[in-house]
Amino acid sequence: MIQFWSHKYQLQEMPSDSSEKHPPIHEGALLKAVWPDGKTGYADLFPVRKFGDADVDTQLSALANGKLSSLTEQSIWLAKRDAILRKNKQSAFVGMAKVKNHFLVTDLFTFTDSKMAEIRSSGYSTLKLKVGFDPEEEVKVISRWLKQHPIMLRLDFNSRLKFDDYQVFMLSLQQGERARIEFVEDPFSWNADAWKAVAEFAPLAIDNEAEKIDWEKLKSPVPFKVMIIKPARTDVEKAVAKVNQYGLKMVVTSSMDHPVGVAHALHVATELKKFNPNTLLDCGCLTLRVYKPNEFANVIQVTGPYLSGIKGTGIGFNELLENTPWIKVQR
Ligand code: MG
Repeated sequence: MIQFWSHKYQLQEMPSDSSEKHPPIHEGALLKAVWPDGKTGYADLFPVRKFGDADVDTQLSALANGKLSSLTEQSIWLAKRDAILRKNKQSAFVGMAKVKNHFLVTDLFTFTDSKMAEIRSSGYSTLKLKVGFDPEEEVKVISRWLKQHPIMLRLDFNSRLKFDDYQVFMLSLQQGERARIEFVEDPFSWNADAWKAVAEFAPLAIDNEAEKIDWEKLKSPVPFKVMIIKPARTDVEKAVAKVNQYGLKMVVTSSMDHPVGVAHALHVATELKKFNPNTLLDCGCLTLRVYKPNEFANVIQVTGPYLSGIKGTGIGFNELLENTPWIKVQR
């Protein structure tokens, strides 16, 4: 039997501007897993309430009772990868392929032109925008950016739009502007015919909506070109098999979670880069700056669009993890 310990933490979002006094706080837990042979690995457990995940206490008490959610299942899979590396005294990152990341913009209305200039000069090729909150205003900002800056954009609607709203949104952009949208993630709720009907505007990418697909009945060619893989939430091997089966591209992203989760996502991305260099696009592991930095974030080096220098064995953080106060997960 695997034995588990947990350590609950909070991540506080960075205020989007100086007027925001109480930025949202998110709760998760670090997990330490010890296998019967003594090997020990670490992972993150970061429920996202807007995706319908049970909160961290519920997840931990289910784990104590031997019941796994898809999140805890992935945490254990990741912890095992870490444990094997630690046992062999290997680092997950030394000598690995470099994975380039997009720049994540969570609020495009507070993103300034000087910030854009800084991003461009530090080597990013693509920006990913979280959109769908105020589509009419967003599309104006996007059109202006595309006119002023030679950048590629990724848009993530998290299924916030309706079919008609999405058409209006895309038709508000000129054809040349749409051509600079690398892909659009989850524009609206999954429906094979509706997705097919809008696939001509810009390539579609599937993220959370993939859970709703009846893969047995899905006919080829599929209306999306890219699959988003979040190792904290999705079975990576199954997802990669689908990428190969349907001739897709893939993007590994963190779950906007704790730096331990970010390090795991990066490790999965570097491995996929090594074995599938042509199918892995720029990734989305650089989500640390969404939150107020904690001591784990402080030891990660970020150089432009690259994360590097997480020292130690496995996914790193050896000293910090050893000094973490752990509580046994038990009934
Ligand atoms: Mg997404």
